[in-house]
Amino acid sequence: MKLAIIGGGPSAFYVASRLHKLLPQTLEYRIHLFDRLWSPHGLVRYGVAPDHPEVKNCTHKFDEAALDRRLRFFGNVNVGDNPSPIQHTVKLPLSSIFSNYSHVVFATGCTLPKRHSELPPSASCTSALSMVHWYTQHPNAPSPPPLDKISHVSLIGNGNVSLDVARMLLTNVDVLRKYDVPERVLDVLAESTVKHVSIVGRRGPLEAAFTMKELREMINLPDASMVPLAPELLQPSEGVPLTRQQTRVLQLLSKGSKNTFGTTEKTWSLDFYRSPAGLMVPSPENARAQLSLAHTVVDPATQRAVPTGETSTVATDLVVTSLGFHGEPTAPYFDPGLGHLRTLSNRIVTNAGTTLRNVYGSGWASTGAHGVLAATMMNAYDVAETIVNDHMNPLEGTEAVLNPDPSLEEIPEEVVHGVRERNIVEYPDWKRIDEEEMRRGQVLGKERERMAWDEARLLLRPSV
Ligand SMILES: Cc1cc2nc3c(=O)[nH]c(=O)nc-3n(C[C@H](O)[C@H](O)[C@H](O)COP(=O)(O)OP(=O)(O)OC[C@H]3O[C@@H](n4cnc5c(N)ncnc54)[C@H](O)[C@@H]3O)c2cc1C
Repeated sequence: MKLAIIGGGPSAFYVASRLHKLLPQTLEYRIHLFDRLWSPHGLVRYGVAPDHPEVKNCTHKFDEAALDRRLRFFGNVNVGDNPSPIQHTVKLPLSSIFSNYSHVVFATGCTLPKRHSELPPSASCTSALSMVHWYTQHPNAPSPPPLDKISHVSLIGNGNVSLDVARMLLTNVDVLRKYDVPERVLDVLAESTVKHVSIVGRRGPLEAAFTMKELREMINLPDASMVPLAPELLQPSEGVPLTRQQTRVLQLLSKGSKNTFGTTEKTWSLDFYRSPAGLMVPSPENARAQLSLAHTVVDPATQRAVPTGETSTVATDLVVTSLGFHGEPTAPYFDPGLGHLRTLSNRIVTNAGTTLRNVYGSGWASTGAHGVLAATMMNAYDVAETIVNDHMNPLEGTEAVLNPDPSLEEIPEEVVHGVRERNIVEYPDWKRIDEEEMRRGQVLGKERERMAWDEARLLLRPSV
C-alpha cells in the first residue's frame, strides 16, 4: 500500500495515525502527506484561536504518527491542476498522484468562507476567515484590519468562530501577549479603538450555534460587558421542551456578563432575530457604513428564520461575516450541491455515481465544515477502517484510477525536485522550525513567535 494524503491537517494525521495501528505489521506500506501550507496541522495552526492553547495538544499525537519511518510529510506542495492560492507552492498535478500511488485520501478541508448574498466583500465588509488568517499570520494573510480607526464591529453569525473573533477584539492585548499571537498582530491590537462588538444571529438564543464553553468565555471576559437581553427573548415558548444545553444557555444569558453592563469601556451584544438585508458603505452623508437588518421570527414548523417585514439600520464600521465554510469548487470530485467532496461511506464518488477504487475523502473535505476536532478524529478513524477493510476485501464494481503497483520508495519527480531545491518542508524540518518558534517565544515570554515562509526557508536553507 502506498497512500497519498492530500492535505496535512488534523484529519490527514488522524488517518495516518490510525493506519499505523490498524495495518498488519507484515504489510510494507508508505504514507505521504502533501499540504500547500509549508507547515503541517492545517486549522490547528491557522484556525484555532490563540487563547485556546490546550486545543493544540493534539499535535503531540501528530508528531508521534510522523515519527514512524513509513510516513513522510511534504509541506508547500499544492496538489491539483488549478493555480495554487498560495504563491510559493510547488505544483503537483493530480496525474502524478494517480500514477505514483495505489491509494489516495483527499483531506483538503473546507478552505473558503461562505458569503452572504447581501454582503459583498468591501472595505467595510470582510470574512471571519480573513480575520483568522490575519491573527494567525496564514501565508495568505490579508493586510491588518484598520482597528485603530474603528469603534463598532458587526459579526454576522453566532457560531464559535464568530466568538473567537469577538474575544480577540474584546480581550486586553496584555492578556493575549502570552499566547501564540505574532508580535505584528499584537501591535495592531494594541492600537485598537474597537468599543463594541455586535454578534448578529438570524434566529434566537435556543438556536444559537455557539457552544457553552465559548459562551461562558464571553460572559467572563475581564474587560468587557454584555448588553442585557430583553427578558422576553429568554422566555421559551410554552410547551416547547428544552435540551440541557438550551436550558443552560438561557440561564447563562439571563444572569448576564460577569461585568455589569456600563462598567467597562468595551461592550458586546447578542443581536438575535436579525438577518442582514444590505450594507451601504460610508458616504459624505454617512461617515459610517449602514447595515440594514431584517427582523425575523423562527417558524415553529421548519425552524427557519422568516422575515417579519420590519427592518432596522445599524451604523457600524466593519462587518465581519462568519457563516461557515465550503470546499473549493474547482477541486476534483467537488459537489456544488453539498459544498464539499462527494463521498459515500468514505469513498469518493464521481459525477456519474461511480465509486473510485482506493480513493477516499476524510475530515471537512468529506463531511463539510461541521464539528470540532473530536468529530474530525472520529471520522478519520472511520476512514482508516474503510481503507483497511477494502484492502482485505476489495469492493466489487469500482473504477480503477490509481497505479496498482507503484514503487514504494519513489516519490513524484516534482517533489524530488522541490526537496532538492529545499522548497519543500518535511517533518524533521518542521520540528526545527517549531523549536525555533518556541525558543523565540520564550525570549518574549510567550508560547511561540511564528515565522513566515521566507524566514522559515532561510532557517532551513541559510544560503538562500
Ligand atoms: C477558525 C476555526 C477555529 C477552530 N477552532 C477549533 C477549536 O478551538 N477546537 C476544535 O476542536 N475545533 C476547532 N475548529 C475545527 C477544526 O479546526 C476542524 O475540525 C479540523 O481542522 C478539520 O480538519 P481537516 O483536516 O478536515 O481540515 P483542515 O484543518 O482545514 O486541513 C486541510 C488541509 O488541506 C490543505 N489543502 C487543501 N487543499 C489542498 C491542495 N489542493 N493541495 C495540498 N493541500 C491542500 C489545507 O492547506 C489544510 O492544511 C476550528 C475551525 C476553524 C475554521
